[in-house]
Amino acid sequence: MEPIRVLVVNSGSSSIKYQLLEPDSGTIIASGLVERIGEGGGAIEHTADDRTLTEHRDIPDHTAGLRLAFAKFAETGHDLTTAGITAVGHRVVHGGEVFYRPTLIDDAVLNTVRELSTLAPLHNPANVRGIMAVRELLPDTPQVAVFDTAFFHGLPAAAKTYAIDSKIAETHGIRRYGFHGTSHEYVSGRAAELLGRPPETLNQIVFHLGNGASVSALSGGRPVDTSMGLTPLEGLVMGTRSGDLDPGIILHLMRTAHLDVDGIDRLLNRGSGLRGMAGVNDFRELRHRIDAGDTAARAAYDVYVHRLRHYLGAYLIDLGGVDAVTFTAGVGENNPDVRADALAGLHRFGIVVDPELNTAKARGPRRISPPQCPVQVLVIPTNEELAIARAAVTVTEKGQ
Ligand code: AMP
Repeated sequence: MEPIRVLVVNSGSSSIKYQLLEPDSGTIIASGLVERIGEGGGAIEHTADDRTLTEHRDIPDHTAGLRLAFAKFAETGHDLTTAGITAVGHRVVHGGEVFYRPTLIDDAVLNTVRELSTLAPLHNPANVRGIMAVRELLPDTPQVAVFDTAFFHGLPAAAKTYAIDSKIAETHGIRRYGFHGTSHEYVSGRAAELLGRPPETLNQIVFHLGNGASVSALSGGRPVDTSMGLTPLEGLVMGTRSGDLDPGIILHLMRTAHLDVDGIDRLLNRGSGLRGMAGVNDFRELRHRIDAGDTAARAAYDVYVHRLRHYLGAYLIDLGGVDAVTFTAGVGENNPDVRADALAGLHRFGIVVDPELNTAKARGPRRISPPQCPVQVLVIPTNEELAIARAAVTVTEKGQ
């Protein structure tokens, strides 16, 4: 029997990331990135069977981008229109109060995702464009939306409620939704597997540290808190986003620097975080600059680590103790300094990082705490595409 294959699509405002994979084995057949859609000077990079094809040309919209990707699939021997793929899984950023599990996409679902754009104006419209483009090219293949917010749907009221006028909160859907849920769910599940213990028996803290960054606290496999909020702007210091700040700063800047909504949006989402403080958002470059004596880079790193420890402390208390602390995503998986500094000096809480295990050249899921430590410190590569593909198959098989 042919193995099941799923196309996973992550559609951004000017890009489409995609992967064709076999969810049973996790084998990636092909993957690629279409960039600069609608901006002129577009490009595609498509990799299949260890061969990478690149092409530069204008890509006016998402359908054109996906059409180009499909042409590259065909060129590398995987014609998606005849390959009989089982489903297409879409990463959809905001599911609001409505969607809390992976959902088969029909017209009503698509409309609701579109309506939720008020909560995620940059992301949901792009997700909708990706879904419409796939519909045009693969009209008979089931499409499934996997929501970044879904895992956090059941957060306790005290963790998800902002202390503002409750009528205003209700009218405008203001609450903590949380993001990166697919990653937090996948990684916490893998952590339980690695420890050989049922997730129901574990208290966990998971740091997803990529260009975007968030941390979650889980009790018995369910999240009890997470750092991102109504939008993915709250919480940890990120590559270009500020994370937490005094809301009064926004009012102050509107009054004194005369920034309007778009100016504030640009400042906090694109011109803050590591880039705002040090001029770079890539952690490797930040490290080079710190090593070269750049004081702004050092200060940015210190703020980044201070915030990690702040959340670690809060979630340790939220949970009343923790069995595992796990790092994932680009920085979490690859940067031993961040892991060591985030957890330094915490032996009295049972948290210790073994320097050799932490700096060992390794890629897979691994423990980096000494064997007898009460708290397991882990590094677990995230794999959102695989999680989305598996969810898409489950939903398609159930037909719901
Ligand atoms: P992500 O959003 O998960 O792709 O993560 C992107 C971030 O991970 C960037 O800040 C990169 O600098 C960082 N990163 C990726 N690979 C490495 C690496 N090998 N060493 C250190 N940082 C890395």
